[in-house]
Amino acid sequence: MINTSPDMNTVPTQGATTPLCWICNQNPANSGEHKTKRSDLLAVLGKPSQQEPFFYSDLHKLNQPVKSLDAQILKAPIRICAYCNNTRTQPHDRAWEHLSDCLRNRSQPLKIGSFVRGNRPFPDYTRREMANVHRFFLKIFGCMLCEAGARVPIPIAAFSKAIMTSGVHPEVHLQFGKSDGKVGRSNLHCWTTQNGSVLAGWLYELDTIAVSVMYAQRGKWTPSPNNWHPHKGTNRFKIMDFCYQSQQTRTASATAANPLVTQSPASS
Ligand SMILES: [Zn+2]
Repeated sequence: MINTSPDMNTVPTQGATTPLCWICNQNPANSGEHKTKRSDLLAVLGKPSQQEPFFYSDLHKLNQPVKSLDAQILKAPIRICAYCNNTRTQPHDRAWEHLSDCLRNRSQPLKIGSFVRGNRPFPDYTRREMANVHRFFLKIFGCMLCEAGARVPIPIAAFSKAIMTSGVHPEVHLQFGKSDGKVGRSNLHCWTTQNGSVLAGWLYELDTIAVSVMYAQRGKWTPSPNNWHPHKGTNRFKIMDFCYQSQQTRTASATAANPLVTQSPASS
């Protein structure tokens, strides 16, 4: 397998002029999308200030001071249009904001291996709201693909279509889990086998919770039963173990015991 993890901070944007929004393909891309949702940062970190900044680290520089939640460094370099960012995807943002809040502020802390039913956070319109959570992660994933460019062989069109039509992406799966203190978004990691089977994933960490977002090419990979997808037929999801910081020695064995996917025999 080839690890084609792109360095998200050095990939140039496509074209010298303002590109079109990758979601609607109509309006100029002039709106910045946060790498980690602004409301999530506010909820877990509070509000930075000139006097009390946060310190942001990436692959290039550690501890860069951030004095506002609107700082450019917190936003993805590829932009979408203001309408898609603020209006079209607002229901998706709100659904995730609500689920994120519910998972982080339960009266009973999340327990690894236990199950959460989607109708707890969303008693009404459960399927619709859980699909909106799926679409929230499609927006971030799509922005990451645009940043990565041709180095990551995943078509952006299906991401755009799912958001534009209130549909779903058949090849993007989620796992929800418990985390241990990190806040941020991992780089996108992509693997391609010699016969062209593509698998990609990244992790969205938010202090006590995390979401693993994965692209598994249809017909090439068999998603793990621990994955959740809007078409799975249930809105119940298993709480996975993403406590990598405190359990580094367990990480390798946990990954081996809990593979995100296994390659289908037909594609090997
Ligand atoms: Zn747009």
